[in-house]
Amino acid sequence: MRAWYSDPYEVPLPEGHRFPMAKYRLVREVLLARGVLAPEQLELAQPVDEATLAVVHDRAYLRACFEGTLDEAALRRIGFPWSEALLERSLASAGGTLSAARHALVHGVGGNLAGGTHHAHADFGSGYCVFNDLAVAAATLLREGAVERVLVVDLDVHQGDGTAAIFRSEPRVFTFSMHGAKNFPFRKQVSTRDVELPDGCDDARYLGLLDEHLPEVFEASAPSLVLYQAGVDALKEDTLGRLHLSHEGLRARDRRVFDLCWSRAVPVVVTLGGGYARPIDATVEASVGTWVELRRRFG
Ligand SMILES: [Zn+2]
Repeated sequence: MRAWYSDPYEVPLPEGHRFPMAKYRLVREVLLARGVLAPEQLELAQPVDEATLAVVHDRAYLRACFEGTLDEAALRRIGFPWSEALLERSLASAGGTLSAARHALVHGVGGNLAGGTHHAHADFGSGYCVFNDLAVAAATLLREGAVERVLVVDLDVHQGDGTAAIFRSEPRVFTFSMHGAKNFPFRKQVSTRDVELPDGCDDARYLGLLDEHLPEVFEASAPSLVLYQAGVDALKEDTLGRLHLSHEGLRARDRRVFDLCWSRAVPVVVTLGGGYARPIDATVEASVGTWVELRRRFG
């Protein structure tokens, strides 16, 4: 078991900015403090280069990111002010998912304590996402011939719209997204399979829908690799989620994903995804729970 982390790449945010940047460090610290991960299992994520990102991202968009020339509208859509640190951190986060995926192909499992930036499209960033780490990892490994088919299981409360759009015409990538019908992004893309959830959706309804779809999705996609966007913003304490899942419900969700990977011997990569509880403790606890379940299943 190995996890890549990016929290030392700190991004300065203006006072009062709603993005909980501290959660990445807190998740890592709690995982270490509780012995879920040992220090030697953690690796500092390394930035990917521009050529790697270009497997999915548009050249002009990448140039603007690297040169810091994104315009006001593009930055507003991302939701962060531009800084060299933001670029470095976004590169490291994508690097973490790619490293974790390479590791998973050898060892069966790997994780990124960042990543899951599923709102980034080929030619623009959106919703706190600059580059799409899931898409970059999937496309890179497909191009190298390291995998034949990839399944993206996106259980963040927001639709994985960027990933869906990037792979719209790529039959080797199956994008599965289960998300709030009334939540961001308000113009949804078409994933290979989308499951929309009503506001206030609770554990029973959520897990029932997951049981209805997830085994079929594994069957239909026959993946050589699963990239799991394990966002915990479906938690009832979340300020953006609009759903009503409990901590136990989220852990039952995670178990279903891991059990299917395990029983079918499919390597899995866990990425952190969203979580916006205030205070942030409930989000941190939920993301730690994902790792507890991962270790319980994979050792
Ligand atoms: Zn989200």
